[in-house]
Amino acid sequence: MIAELVSVGTELLLGNIVNTNARYLSEQCAALGIHVYYQVTVGDNEERLTQVIRTALDRSQLVILTGGLGPTEDDLTREAAARALGLRLTEDSHTRERIEAYFRNSIHKTISPNNWKQALVIEGAEVLDNDNGTAPGLFVHTGNGKHVILLPGPPNELIPMFRTQVLPILSGLCGGKGTLYSYMVKLCGIGESMAETMIRDLIDSQINPTIATYAKSGEVDIRVTAFAQDEEEGRRLTLPVVEELKKRFGDHIYTLREEETLEAHVIGLLQELGFTVSMAESCTGGLLCGRLVNVPGASDVLKSAFVTYANEAKERLGVRHDTLVTYGAVSAQTAEEMAEAAAKAAGADAAVSVTGIAGPDGGTKEKPVGTVYLACWVRGTVSVKHFLFHGNRAKVRELSVQYALDLLRRCLLEQKRTL
Ligand code: ATP
Ligand code: MG
Repeated sequence: MIAELVSVGTELLLGNIVNTNARYLSEQCAALGIHVYYQVTVGDNEERLTQVIRTALDRSQLVILTGGLGPTEDDLTREAAARALGLRLTEDSHTRERIEAYFRNSIHKTISPNNWKQALVIEGAEVLDNDNGTAPGLFVHTGNGKHVILLPGPPNELIPMFRTQVLPILSGLCGGKGTLYSYMVKLCGIGESMAETMIRDLIDSQINPTIATYAKSGEVDIRVTAFAQDEEEGRRLTLPVVEELKKRFGDHIYTLREEETLEAHVIGLLQELGFTVSMAESCTGGLLCGRLVNVPGASDVLKSAFVTYANEAKERLGVRHDTLVTYGAVSAQTAEEMAEAAAKAAGADAAVSVTGIAGPDGGTKEKPVGTVYLACWVRGTVSVKHFLFHGNRAKVRELSVQYALDLLRRCLLEQKRTL
């Protein structure tokens, strides 16, 4: 199959941005055995864009357009493609609902009238949902055996859409019974930029499988996806990359199972070791315990937990008065005693503690907002960690929980190794 890539955007012609979409799509087509004969770049001008699409349809079977699907006046790709194909634009109710939902969940709650333009689709087109933006992609199969694909310009919208929705259709068109095979490598205790830096070379040289990182709060997921003829080939292509990631990230990786959450993983480790757990929480006020109780099976390992917000509560649990006076409630010493006291009070094999300053008030020069101490006590051995988290109260508390789960996980791994 002969393909033509059309990159739309005056900023490309002016040299303001580098055309990485063309590079990505060319690579993907090559991996599918599709021959890209032409790459054309055209500005945001409807006449010239329509002409470029007509020419492309004359000489290529597959035309992939990127950019110009946004809501603004200069986003004209839908209109030009419809004109070149002689088809009408109609509103797609499913896309309209998705746009509504997107804005409901985003910080920009107001929808401007021109956003509805993005619900217009070329009649008869397959709509490709955009999970990272508002403009859907479109896949048009013309009556004379040609195919036109419209994709959004931003690479973080285009790449996931291509991988999950376009690749399967294209592989079908190429006659392959191709399949997508993917692994999710889930990491914690490491930031996204650090994780990306550690695999920059792998990301830069990726073709098949592809590697993409997704940042979550206190977690980074790396998806390794291969396009393969069958599952076996998929496994063969992806496994060496997964092995390389294991070598590079070691204990930062907590699971390769996409559906497994960090808390479920921790509960699993406790069950495996036959350990019970407890916790003493100050600034997280029960959030950590709540995360663990989310997991079915938590009752096997969790008997009781403590929210010790005030100093008196910490003392009643077993933290020494002297410790609180000398080092303060937010200190390594208090965290350590909280963990040990929680374990003893609950009669548990392990316990985690959290004490910190979630803000917005309460910070000092020595202990600014975001200062958090975590401790983990496991059968007499205690580890303490100090963090300075950035963000609002909710963020600091959420990250505290995430890193507390990670600390518990790492201490349990140590125990597993000594068995
Ligand atoms: P939006 O809804 O963001 O307007 P769009 O589909 O209309 O999306 P454009 O307006 O053409 O896309 O481009 C939006 C942004 O996407 C550009 O500013 C640029 O950062 C990026 N982009 C567009 N085309 C390319 C390309 N070919 N290569 C790399 N990045 C691109
Ligand atoms: Mg745009």
